[in-house]
Amino acid sequence: MYINGKWEKAENNAEFDVFNPATGDVLSQVADGSPGDLAAAINAADRAFNTWSSLTAYNRSQYLYAAWKIMMEKKEDLARIMTMEQGKPLTAARNEVQYGADFLLWFAEEAKRIYGETIPSARPDQRFFVLKQPVGVVGAITPWNYPVSMITRKLAPALAAGCTIVLKPAEATPLCAIEMFKIFEEAKIPPGVVNLVTTFDPKPVGKEFISNPIVKKLTFTGSTGVGKMLASGAALHMKRISLELGGHAPFIVYDDADPVHAAKGAVLVKFLNTGQACISPNRIFVPRHMVDAFTEEFTNRVNAMKAGNGMDKGVKIGPLVGPDAVSKVENQVEDALSKGAKLVTGGRRLTDNFLANGYFYAPTVLTNVTKEMLIYREETFGPVAPIIAYDGDDDVIEMANDTVYGLAAYVYTKNISRAMTAFERLKFGIIGINDINPTSAAAPFGGIKESGMGREGAREGINEYLETKLGGFSI
Ligand code: ADP
Repeated sequence: MYINGKWEKAENNAEFDVFNPATGDVLSQVADGSPGDLAAAINAADRAFNTWSSLTAYNRSQYLYAAWKIMMEKKEDLARIMTMEQGKPLTAARNEVQYGADFLLWFAEEAKRIYGETIPSARPDQRFFVLKQPVGVVGAITPWNYPVSMITRKLAPALAAGCTIVLKPAEATPLCAIEMFKIFEEAKIPPGVVNLVTTFDPKPVGKEFISNPIVKKLTFTGSTGVGKMLASGAALHMKRISLELGGHAPFIVYDDADPVHAAKGAVLVKFLNTGQACISPNRIFVPRHMVDAFTEEFTNRVNAMKAGNGMDKGVKIGPLVGPDAVSKVENQVEDALSKGAKLVTGGRRLTDNFLANGYFYAPTVLTNVTKEMLIYREETFGPVAPIIAYDGDDDVIEMANDTVYGLAAYVYTKNISRAMTAFERLKFGIIGINDINPTSAAAPFGGIKESGMGREGAREGINEYLETKLGGFSI
């Protein structure tokens, strides 16, 4: 753990194992931090806050630039550690490191653009000034599916705003977090400004984040269930919170879309990170008369994807993160098949040769998927593509919106008015129009409904770490 600028063991010396999900091998042991360790990190962040928040924005920016530079130099090492610890293919890991570094660079720049405002008053003697100030000590909890970029997406705007931070990464991917903190150490970010507490059981540490009065804001990426629990705890203590939670993205193919282009896009985004992404399509809507042609094109592409260890050349599908993830996928597929879905390809755990040691599930295509099935409602977080037939434009928008989630949606059409109608009527925070990667450090990422609140990245991302203060001056 990295607390107050020093690498520390857990207070009781406890450790836990970190596994490679492709091989089942133990990679390393890391500190199993306690609520007491978290409290020590929070105290360190508190002590560092006044000095850090009093630096000029230009100074803080320099630290973020330094971290960005080191991160770019270490891109290959970080990517390799990520592939070993999280399982995604090396090319995807490199892309993620780049995406993660982008947040350091973007917020190094945004630090200098934290503008206030002056507001005319109705009283001749009065002047209004609006000042933006950092919220204080931030508690951050990150997931395992994007174990590097989810750290910088929170830490960079927090630091740019003048906050200090304590991070608890996911128990499946602490090594990526440790590598990132080595970078922050090398960038000479002052002691206490960034702190890392690794832990195996997130519950006790989560409680400390909620109840410790020094923490003024929580930022969380993970499941909707845990997000709701944290939000209710934050409400009790009136802490600020931003949440990036689950999704159930619709992928709508209109009948004027190029079926090959649409199938290509759908495969790429569905199987990205083996389906373990909150923006992963969970329902692929295709006009009834196009289902057969689309499914054939889609399935040919799926069958061409090689599953295996992300370190091996040509591998496109890595393992799932662990046994529970495999069971969830198996359960959803069994449920769909028992209710009339048709299995086009996949539908089983992969156990050939060395794959049996890891958590591999075959890329799977289901058709005849209907709303009675679990997969129509629940986030899969795995490599299963459910194809659903629809009959008209109004029908499909209604079906797409029929979910508690509201993170990402995708639309394929060549018709500008259909594209605009879908963009306006879909109740999701991010809409890709003929585009499967509507994400960037420069663009606001986040969901509506049960997919969360607040935005990360972009000009908006820094606001999550700022308070608005009004000054009324009588002269
Ligand atoms: P997933 O199902 O994708 O693993 P989680 O929401 O369980 O999603 O995990 C995301 C992050 O939330 C991880 O860092 C995990 O340790 C953390 N987490 C899980 N449960 C709790 C909890 N009760 N309190 C605080 N953090 C938690």
